[in-house]
Amino acid sequence: MRNLTVLGSTGSIGTQTLDVVRKNSSELKIVALTAGSNTELLKKQMEEFKPELVCISDEKKVSELRETALLYNIKVVSGMDGLIEAATLEHCDTVVTAIVGMIGLRPTVAAIKAKKDIALANKETLVTAGHIIMPLAKEYGVDILPVDSEHSAIFQALNGENHNRIEKILLTASGGPFRGRTIEQMKNIQVEDALKHPNWAMGRKITIDSSTMVNKGLEVMEAKWLFGVTYDQVQVIVQPESIIHSMVQFKDGAVMAQLGSPDMRLPIQYALFYPDRPYLDSKRLDFYELGKITFEKPDMENFRGLKLAYQAGNAGGNLPTVFNAANELAVSKFLNRKIGYLDITGIIEYAMNNVKKIENPSLQEVLDTEKTTYELIESRW
Ligand code: NAD
Ligand code: MG
Repeated sequence: MRNLTVLGSTGSIGTQTLDVVRKNSSELKIVALTAGSNTELLKKQMEEFKPELVCISDEKKVSELRETALLYNIKVVSGMDGLIEAATLEHCDTVVTAIVGMIGLRPTVAAIKAKKDIALANKETLVTAGHIIMPLAKEYGVDILPVDSEHSAIFQALNGENHNRIEKILLTASGGPFRGRTIEQMKNIQVEDALKHPNWAMGRKITIDSSTMVNKGLEVMEAKWLFGVTYDQVQVIVQPESIIHSMVQFKDGAVMAQLGSPDMRLPIQYALFYPDRPYLDSKRLDFYELGKITFEKPDMENFRGLKLAYQAGNAGGNLPTVFNAANELAVSKFLNRKIGYLDITGIIEYAMNNVKKIENPSLQEVLDTEKTTYELIESRW
């Protein structure tokens, strides 16, 4: 039996994780769940999975959970301390980080120090603190198992292989809903347009990030840390059907890929059962029906988010944090209709040029950089 804590259980990855648990209840058990503010869904999850502990980040909402908590004898906590308590619970073996944003950083560090394996969906963790997280995981002997579909594909392609023989990581991208458009043609994009992804149903923030290709930029940085490669070794390939989830090219020229229909439950399940592959009721690929798979070069001139991500990654230090924090705030402003679509990359670039660079930032400096970046943006937009 593997005991799980799910950070962000009410979100897209969180609910799909619980679906995997539901279908494998003799092998997986939930010990803790956390949510930002959705108490209605969290209550249903408490009734179904009966965890030991739940955390609701919005402290004003604790009382809404009281009745259900009493009925099933569940401890209710809140805030950052609550997230950390959930991530370090004694009976937990693996923490699924399905929470969105840099808020996932401190609970993940705490979980590693408490020797919990990490099923990592929260990409902001490695983007901002890969230089801290990867050595820490090694020191505490914990596994970081990727949940992001591309990184899971790479992880699967590397199974049984010698990591020193990686020549290139071929990171695939759908290109998002605006693939093929010029900057001029993207000026008037509205929130509703950007929230429509062609292949994947995901949370709001990552859906916007996919449309700007900032998501792919974050994934390039995530790949660097997870697989110990340089930025020159990570090549983005647009593959609009989202059938090839990523590939690895080895030093002998062989390319290994993982294919499948787009369904996040596969990478989630693989992270929880690695290296086993239990049955999953997902749609099977039908190659006759598919006919062909197409490839394109990413357009970094019109989709500046990807270019800026490579720049931030290559600059290193706290620049990836500036990139990520600026994007988080800009996306939330766009979703609240405070700024235009193209302002997202404009804000990222402005922040990258104006926040003071710190080489090799500590965890505190990473968190301080987030704050400084937010203050800088708020003073102008
Ligand atoms: P989502 O918005 O659907 O869910 C986020 C979860 O985090 C929810 O449970 C929410 O309550 C919680 N949360 C949000 N803000 C919070 C806060 N301030 N405090 C505490 N809890 C908070 O997001 P998602 O799409 O499931 O993505 C989660 C993470 O996984 C992100 O980092 C994303 O980049 C990554 N990811 C998602 C997908 C996907 O298919 N959805 C794929 C790959 C990676
Ligand atoms: Mg992905």
